[in-house]
Amino acid sequence: MVEQTALGLAARKFRPIATEEAFLIPEVVAAAAKRFEKGGSNSSADAHVFRLQTSGGEYAKDFNRRLLDLDEERLRIMDENGIDMQLLSHSGGIQGLEPDEAVPLAALANDRLAETIARHPTRYAGLASFAPQAPQQAAKEIERAINTLKLNGLIVYSHTNGEYLDEPKYRPVLEAAAAVNTPLYLHPRSPSPQMIAPFQPDLVLSIWGYQVDASLHAMRLIVSGVFDDIPNLRIVLGHGGEGIPYWFDRIDVRYQVSSLRRRKLKMLPSEYFKKHFTITTSGMNWSPVLKYCIGVLGADKIAFAVDYPYEETTRAVEGLLTADITDADKAQIFRTTSERVFKIRQAT
Ligand code: MN
Repeated sequence: MVEQTALGLAARKFRPIATEEAFLIPEVVAAAAKRFEKGGSNSSADAHVFRLQTSGGEYAKDFNRRLLDLDEERLRIMDENGIDMQLLSHSGGIQGLEPDEAVPLAALANDRLAETIARHPTRYAGLASFAPQAPQQAAKEIERAINTLKLNGLIVYSHTNGEYLDEPKYRPVLEAAAAVNTPLYLHPRSPSPQMIAPFQPDLVLSIWGYQVDASLHAMRLIVSGVFDDIPNLRIVLGHGGEGIPYWFDRIDVRYQVSSLRRRKLKMLPSEYFKKHFTITTSGMNWSPVLKYCIGVLGADKIAFAVDYPYEETTRAVEGLLTADITDADKAQIFRTTSERVFKIRQAT
């Protein structure tokens, strides 16, 4: 283990698990780059992200190097900052490919992830990728990734070809997630093609567009009634719940007076969120938001995340360490929530 900073030593006692930590396999980078070159992407903003990751500029070079590394710099940064484990997930790209390419690449990403965890079993756990554009095959891969590869959950990068998972064609995916009793991390992505235009040029990415799309996706799932149909479906949202907890009262009030409902739900929208959702602190290292979310959800519904390499590990660790909350809540958020939600079992 390398030398720890004072911050790292202070964090170390909480044995933090970071839960939205990205990696890439080169095969997906190559396939996505080829598709973007041909102009086949369904989102120009995703092309922009892949250009960032694969070419030019100091900022981009760091991302590319850090996303592909799983054995050196990543572990050193974790050690310096007192991070005990990263819950790894492949950083998108798969959903923009044709099904015949996406299905095997999702499986390959999961195989690599399982190999990486086997090399570093005390440092990594992982979320499995799948290709929603082939729902039946996605369901099979979910079953394999959890039951055979023993991964800890699932990740999806929001919309697929501009479609959201409440659409009936994606029901096999959600049923598979529930059948293996594992959470689905609903990761943001740039807005779907139907609504991206007014976000151009400045608001497409994580400054605003990502949370608009991810929160829309989560709200679509809630009002679709899918949680009445699949009672043990569980969702994880990053970025402090993508803003939704702040809106609970208004959403519930407007839901009750709206005559536009597709379907009457058994509970209020906020009650589904409290029952079925866990949120993480990725990119939201701000004490007022954390305190608010603890107040409305409870610390046991909140898990620590850095969003490595896109966010700075030091800033995330410092944000939670210095937050104006109790040590018991810090311990819950740094580690205990993740152990429960993602079934991470480590000998001490
Ligand atoms: Mn992320």
